[in-house]
Amino acid sequence: MSTGFSTRAIHAGQEPDPTTGAVVVPISLSTTFAQDGVGNHKGYEYSRSGNPTRTAVETQIASLEQARHGLSFASGLAAEDNILRLLTVAPEGSGKRVLLGNDAYGGTFRLIAKVWGPMGYPWTAVDLTDLDALRANWPDDTGMIWLETPTNPLLTCFDIEAIASIAHERGAIVVVDNTFATPYLQQPITLGADLVVHSATKYLGGHSDVVGGFVATSNDELAEKIGFTQNAAGAVPSPFDSYMLLRGVKTLAVRMDRHCENARAIVDLLIDHPAIERVQYPQLPDHPGHAAAAKQMKDFGGMVSFQVKAGKDAAMRVADATSIFTLAESLGAVESLIEHPGAMTHMSAAGSPLEVPDNLVRLSVGIEDKADLVDDLAAALDTI
Ligand SMILES: *Cc1c(COP(=O)(O)O)cnc(C)c1O
Repeated sequence: MSTGFSTRAIHAGQEPDPTTGAVVVPISLSTTFAQDGVGNHKGYEYSRSGNPTRTAVETQIASLEQARHGLSFASGLAAEDNILRLLTVAPEGSGKRVLLGNDAYGGTFRLIAKVWGPMGYPWTAVDLTDLDALRANWPDDTGMIWLETPTNPLLTCFDIEAIASIAHERGAIVVVDNTFATPYLQQPITLGADLVVHSATKYLGGHSDVVGGFVATSNDELAEKIGFTQNAAGAVPSPFDSYMLLRGVKTLAVRMDRHCENARAIVDLLIDHPAIERVQYPQLPDHPGHAAAAKQMKDFGGMVSFQVKAGKDAAMRVADATSIFTLAESLGAVESLIEHPGAMTHMSAAGSPLEVPDNLVRLSVGIEDKADLVDDLAAALDTI
């Protein structure tokens, strides 16, 4: 029986415990599992290789992404690092280059450019909104194309289906970082992506209390290769972290609906505000990639960025002046956060093609009462 998104979030991988009837998946802390005879076990041997609480959350999130396989990791970057390891075991003659959209999470850029680059895996940053240029300038040695949509922090959206078809014609693996959209708003596997990666630390966990990463795929061969390095390199989440993530994801749909509603109220405040030069939100008709977002997303998400007319210092003052929006890195949780990407999350991209405007402020709009959020931000803007 095929069931809806929220039903799967609450039930997939979460049958009542067969021994006790517990409705909530237990946190299985055991590192090792008894065997009836050598090699004869119930599916678990050692908790780095597999753990029942981890299996539950892997089944849950894979089902939301409409993927056959799910693999969880100790952080989003650990998940990304395991994906990049595919380049080391690709078939003879495959490319080693990573094509990266020219706006991305700073830590993703750092991992690709400053860890994998020096090991002999070059990268190129490209404008993924220009598909003709992508076709025309495609480097022959590309092994993987990596896209976030919406991007962090400019919220540009890319046409996953079109990019996947260009990449597949040229033999490259397509990776989509779905952290900002979540599977509730967009399911990249159904649009042709080979791999979906998440910082589960953000919307999936949703409460700023667990660091985690996730990979979803319906490609059996890629799942087997990533499963091998998940175990062999060992960057797995603890049973407690797996439980926290499982618990957070149950409410993903209701949280995302509220995030989107509150984000729209904030955009309404900013759009005509005299202190604002530009608002970045995928729902706006003139936003880069609005058409792609409208086509592939169910709604436009809880992240809003904006540029302040008076420049960098004023942008930093706004980020300092709110009281409900907390000045902090990270995003995607129930509480609203505000930050200055140039000096915070995206500092590692300074001087690169991924450098962000210095008058940019990024909001992660939470699920508090929207009138309070609007009042808080309006008051902060009045201080500049
Ligand atoms: C935070 C983030 C990451 C990194 O995830 P961690 O869980 O912090 O390791 C990757 N991609 C995006 C879009 C992010 O926002």
